[in-house]
Amino acid sequence: MTEHEKSSNVVWHNATVTRARRESQNGHRGGLFWFTGLSGAGKSTLAHTVEEKLHQQGFRTFVLDGDNVRHGLCADLGFSEEDRKENIRRIGHMAMLYVEAGIVVLTAFISPFRADRDNVRKIAGADFHEIYCRCSLEVCEDRDVKGLYKRARAGEIPDFTGISSPYEEPEFANLTVDTESHLDECTGLVYDYIVRSTENGAA
Ligand code: ADP
Repeated sequence: MTEHEKSSNVVWHNATVTRARRESQNGHRGGLFWFTGLSGAGKSTLAHTVEEKLHQQGFRTFVLDGDNVRHGLCADLGFSEEDRKENIRRIGHMAMLYVEAGIVVLTAFISPFRADRDNVRKIAGADFHEIYCRCSLEVCEDRDVKGLYKRARAGEIPDFTGISSPYEEPEFANLTVDTESHLDECTGLVYDYIVRSTENGAA
């Protein structure tokens, strides 16, 4: 049992329709493609442009997006270090259910702490692919897609990543894309990486 499990009477039910059978039917493997980076770095944009391309090629895909998850599954959580940790833990487990279903999951969460991302890596093992959307704070702040940097600078948002809370860059990202410009090029790089990593028979 892990520290989060409250009952020892829960047994994992083995389906007869296995992950391998689903993947064979889909024509590709499932996998968890974890986009990380500052707010405004381009995680959502990239996850969706890549998903569109994959979908058009017949891939089974799903994007898990920060804001959507926080409206429901994680609505009870804030942005303290403890809550961010729990947020990422829940998402990691949920994403793995999708992966078990043979789906290519793309997640768009700032996930600023290395330890939390490593935790998901532990949950997902070889299915985990860390994709770092590298973009300077200056560019992100200049974009200010949601107007949040302005509010954070005005002191209206506590624990805002990059301003009043740290962002820990990945040390061993599977793929790093420079997202300050050239969206098409970044989309192509991530798309190619995902196609390569989800070929049936790929490790
Ligand atoms: P995040 O999800 O990381 O908070 P968003 O995807 O919401 O960031 O916003 C990123 C913004 O940057 C969008 O307006 C997008 O069009 C723009 N952008 C410019 N170049 C790129 C790129 N190479 N990759 C992703 N987004 C880019």
